[in-house]
Amino acid sequence: MKKPNQLPKMYCNLFGHDYQVTKRVTYHVKEYTCRHCKTQLTTNSNGSLTKLTPKFKEINAILERIHNSRTQRLKNKNLSSSIY
Ligand SMILES: [Zn+2]
Repeated sequence: MKKPNQLPKMYCNLFGHDYQVTKRVTYHVKEYTCRHCKTQLTTNSNGSLTKLTPKFKEINAILERIHNSRTQRLKNKNLSSSIY
């Protein structure tokens, strides 16, 4: 039996989306995906949620890179200060 595709969307219309964090970009920016209809959201620069468009994916990728290099540097610093 074929699974009806319209069901998740109908569920969301009735009960609202059920978002889960799918990615932590920075401490403040996260990406969310609805468990039912796979709609994706992200935190924007105002701190509110907005639809995850390709533009925002691009911004998040850059943010993530900056964030990672920053935390990486911090880790290295802590490591070397614990050695010396
Ligand atoms: Zn949904």
